[in-house]
Amino acid sequence: MNEFSKVSLGIFPTPIHKIENISRLLGTQVYVKRDDMTGLGLGGNKVRKLEYLLADAKAQGAQVVFTTGGAQSNHAMLTAAAARKLGLTPILILKKRGVTARQGNQLLEHLMGVDVRFMDTDSYADIYAEMDRVGKEMGVPYYKIPCGGSNALGTLGYVDCVREISAQGMQFDHIICAEGSGGTMAGLALGAKLHMPRARVTGMMVDTDPFDQITLELMREAAALLGADVSVTAEDFDLRDMCGPGYAIPSEDGNAAVSMMAAQEGLFLDPVYTGKAFAGLIAMAKKGVFKPADRVLFLHSGGAGGLFAVGV
Ligand SMILES: *Cc1c(COP(=O)(O)O)cnc(C)c1O
Repeated sequence: MNEFSKVSLGIFPTPIHKIENISRLLGTQVYVKRDDMTGLGLGGNKVRKLEYLLADAKAQGAQVVFTTGGAQSNHAMLTAAAARKLGLTPILILKKRGVTARQGNQLLEHLMGVDVRFMDTDSYADIYAEMDRVGKEMGVPYYKIPCGGSNALGTLGYVDCVREISAQGMQFDHIICAEGSGGTMAGLALGAKLHMPRARVTGMMVDTDPFDQITLELMREAAALLGADVSVTAEDFDLRDMCGPGYAIPSEDGNAAVSMMAAQEGLFLDPVYTGKAFAGLIAMAKKGVFKPADRVLFLHSGGAGGLFAVGV
């Protein structure tokens, strides 16, 4: 398969461990892949994507890196941290949605001295156009990273994650993650198809986009980049709607999952992604989807910044 270059931003492999108390409560074998410990910023899933995306930015000679997201985007904060580490200048053009005060990820961006701008729009097309306008005005080579780092190249980070899990000597029947912009889920689903075919991957949707199409498309594009000889279909993964009242608006069962994980295991989830995703895992366990001996891997994708800004 084709290889793409990466820059080193994180500390890998991230640990995997069983959560004993929750396994007992849910009647199955639950493990956590600690991608909240990827080693940059407060950790999180975007680090694996950024290792590919920023290698591409450097190869193209970029000096400025743009990205976007909501006001409390973990992705935007981690892109800024990664760019700083590599000597690139980050500029974040964020949607003026959510908590814009100097809390959570906004506080971290302030500490890094990052140029953060807000646009009062719901359209990412407007934001990408603004990036081009600002980039051209600056007159330096620039690189645009899409929302969530979810393009085919970013998706490769989570194909690698499954290879990493397999190399850690672990096999799983289920892999469960949050799905917000799609790259993580698409990478895990393609990675499982290539490296751990017995694992069933379920994406817990925390937004209302058409994730069936988004996931399929990213899987196909990433497979094409790799030159992998696989045919990807909608049968390759499952999705579950865990959005609740809306993207980045805490849900009752999501908050209950955040509290349960904290109280039982001393692990902190977040209200926007991982809490809602873990609530989906609890719902599957209650429905009897998992057998007692099944090994279920939950991807802890980070999000601590949001916990401090959005609360539960
Ligand atoms: C971005 C993010 C996700 C979702 O990953 P996508 O690849 O955007 O679907 C999950 N958890 C956290 C904490 C995130 O920041």
